[in-house]
Amino acid sequence: MKITFLGTGTSHGVPVVGCECATCISEDSKNKRYRSSIYIEIANTSILVDTPPELRLQLLENNIRKIDAVLFTHPHADHLMGFDDLRGINRLQRRSIPCYGNKMTIQEVERVFSYIFNPIQIGGGVPEVILYTVDRDFQLNDNTIIPIPIKHGKLNILGYRIGKLAYLTDCSYIPESSFALLDGIELLVIDALRYRTHSTHMNIEEALDVVDKLGVTKAYFTHLSHDLEHNKVNSELPDHVKLAYDGLVVEINN
Ligand SMILES: [Zn+2]
Ligand SMILES: [Zn+2]
Ligand SMILES: [Zn+2]
Repeated sequence: MKITFLGTGTSHGVPVVGCECATCISEDSKNKRYRSSIYIEIANTSILVDTPPELRLQLLENNIRKIDAVLFTHPHADHLMGFDDLRGINRLQRRSIPCYGNKMTIQEVERVFSYIFNPIQIGGGVPEVILYTVDRDFQLNDNTIIPIPIKHGKLNILGYRIGKLAYLTDCSYIPESSFALLDGIELLVIDALRYRTHSTHMNIEEALDVVDKLGVTKAYFTHLSHDLEHNKVNSELPDHVKLAYDGLVVEINN
């Protein structure tokens, strides 16, 4: 399985508009963060998680030409607003793209993009997609996708487990029943917004506690704010835990 980080930033992105902090003025490309998304290639199946506002740039910069499915974590703008850019992939593949999410998310996709699902005129390109509500394991070709219910503040949203990878963005709390679904993973990608606490995201300390509890051999933090300067924070983290960065590619055995 090959995982490409397309974006690792929090909802504002990094640099933040108008900010002159050390991270935002840094010339290190690892301090430049699009909104969060990953692209997973496994057994001839290509999976995109979320469609952030910079999706077109993320697809171009990572030379992505194939998406067999989209997994949505939740419908906040920073995870959804690149949805229209799936048209570029439709044009290459000439078929609809199946999109999966929990009930709230699929209802929000239909509401926000009502012009796609309830066309008011003929003409004008819209993404060709098929929406599926999921609340339990499902198959994508030969791969089992396991939705992981997590809390994002008061919202019930989804992380996903695929083989030995778990991707838990926008996570403030993991119920015990979901820890059971994560048993045996090797690579954890989890929300770690900043050092200070936040009502809807884990901070570094809380994310490290999850890493310890799961006993994973490797973890990457994502959905990072400008409070986290890449090299400084990485030097403070344990060896098996690192900040992800845009363009990072990680390969693991399924
Ligand atoms: Zn977010
Ligand atoms: Zn800043
Ligand atoms: Zn969110």
